[in-house]
Amino acid sequence: MPERSYGKNSKRAAPGREHSFRGDAVRAKKHLGQHFLKDLSIAERIAGLLSGHNGYQTVLEIGPGMGVLTQYLLATDLPFTTHVIEIDTESIAYLTAHFPMLRGRILDGDFLRMDLSTLFPEEPIAIIGNFPYNISSQILFKVLDHRQQVQEVVCMLQQEVAQRIASPPGNKDYGILSVLLQAYYDIKYEFTVDASVFSPPPKVQSGVISLRRNEVVALPCNEKKFVQVVKQGFNNRRKTLRNALKPLNLPESMLSHSLLDKRAEQLGVADFIELTNLIFNYDDGL
Ligand code: SAH
Repeated sequence: MPERSYGKNSKRAAPGREHSFRGDAVRAKKHLGQHFLKDLSIAERIAGLLSGHNGYQTVLEIGPGMGVLTQYLLATDLPFTTHVIEIDTESIAYLTAHFPMLRGRILDGDFLRMDLSTLFPEEPIAIIGNFPYNISSQILFKVLDHRQQVQEVVCMLQQEVAQRIASPPGNKDYGILSVLLQAYYDIKYEFTVDASVFSPPPKVQSGVISLRRNEVVALPCNEKKFVQVVKQGFNNRRKTLRNALKPLNLPESMLSHSLLDKRAEQLGVADFIELTNLIFNYDDGL
């Protein structure tokens, strides 16, 4: 799937384009998932993936660290304002000292706990970041909760997770987050990043993906039940859906339906919508 890789053997990682950390550089803390990107070309390329999709004017960067990506967001030609949220006090001090133009837009805290709709009321936004890999799925579940607000996401993740999210049905990597995110976003695997361009290098390769909000305002089914069906289906991903979905008390009349002969990983968003309607129309008269 990933065609090109930037990093170790890449022409783009030319000498002289390496970020030189200053004397007051932040000490990398493992528990915060801190791996600082050294290669400026890659940082520039990631920032350049923001497209302004649907006209947002606010970008929130999660986990700016020492601002390697932030500097390119601030230099953009697009008409957006950059805000950052960072949990690490040492990084906050670094950013405050070196990015005076970010004043008032450096949020000190945990992205998972912040209330997006209060901070940016009624505003469409984009999210970008080299995510802390230990919480990248949680970040994306939060994006889903705020899907009417978040128009675009550009992020670097553990490569395996990035591939999973972007992969089509039928792929062994395809999973819950793939279906849920693909229901509301057009997703593209952009490129692979070698572990060697980080300090300290992570144990895994990284992948960059972009997600752009599609036209779907609401799925043509009960959306809460849709999530329930997807989760239950993947709970036993090796079983046919007839077995995997048993706990949902499938109505008699649908037991011979051909979708139930398949496994969750073979179904696209439209199939899951159909299943949801077949199962729950009977229960709650939707
Ligand atoms: N963007 C920087 C740092 C990436 S490492 C670079 O590319 O070099 C991930 C960053 O996310 C770290 O700075 C870490 O402190 C921050 N972080 C970790 N958990 C966070 C959370 N819950 N909320 C906000 N930031 C977080």
